[in-house]
Amino acid sequence: MAGITVEGLSTVYPNGVRAVDELDLEIADGELFALLGPSGCGKTTLLRTIAGLEGATDGAVAIGDRDVTRLQPGDRRVAMVFQDYALFPHMTVAENIAYPLRVRGVAKSVQQETAARTARGLSLGELLDRRPGQLSGGQQQRAALARAVAASAEVLLLDEPLSNLDARLRLEARTFLKKLQRELALTTVFVTHDQAEALALADRIAVMDAGRIRQLGTPREVFQRP
Ligand code: ADP
Ligand code: ADP
Repeated sequence: MAGITVEGLSTVYPNGVRAVDELDLEIADGELFALLGPSGCGKTTLLRTIAGLEGATDGAVAIGDRDVTRLQPGDRRVAMVFQDYALFPHMTVAENIAYPLRVRGVAKSVQQETAARTARGLSLGELLDRRPGQLSGGQQQRAALARAVAASAEVLLLDEPLSNLDARLRLEARTFLKKLQRELALTTVFVTHDQAEALALADRIAVMDAGRIRQLGTPREVFQRP
């Protein structure tokens, strides 16, 4: 378990675009935190920098007391779930969920047991032998979450995880995501451009604009107009 501390962070792309601009942010251990804002404001770049997928140009990101800008990829206990789920199409659901454990050299029996247990928790127990192409959008999304959770990450980073779902599935997935997050008390950051989604899910919301945070607070504080 770990909170996230971002200090004076700037992420500048090689083409000179300053996607994250001297940003400070403190996310508490176990918090469900939303990054909200229009397309191009820097949400994904901030998330990717926290994940260590993008290098920080300036400043620092810490998860717990570890500076992530200095960690090896294998030491990062961060799981990121993307818009398109990024499941491996040639692997079964069980193999997909077990993949991060396999990469870490965890024993095969433990891989299988963990994958089965996590899948059951997400109502995927009957689907372990299917391939992603044989799943609905909602099932794929749950499988991607299961993989992140099975990896026993400390921090879950979600980039528009519900955006490809239809309206009904999205509501279902919201409820599910909130329940899962509460049960695991995983520090979770999710990116969205959907106000309603941020309002429904988040403990706190940061509204970004041009690489900076313009507003920060609980959904009530952010959306209440005096
Ligand atoms: P958001 O997730 O809020 O849509 P992004 O973080 O994707 O915002 O993008 C922030 C800014 O950085 C935008 O101006 C975008 O065009 C630019 N950008 C994103 N990725 C790259 C990249 N790989 N190279 C150069 N510029 C990028
Ligand atoms: P998002 O859904 O986060 O807004 P985009 O459609 O902006 O994503 O970006 C898709 C991909 O293109 C990302 O990998 C991003 O890093 C890259 N990208 C975005 N803007 C630029 C840019 N100006 N130059 C180079 N790559 C970019």
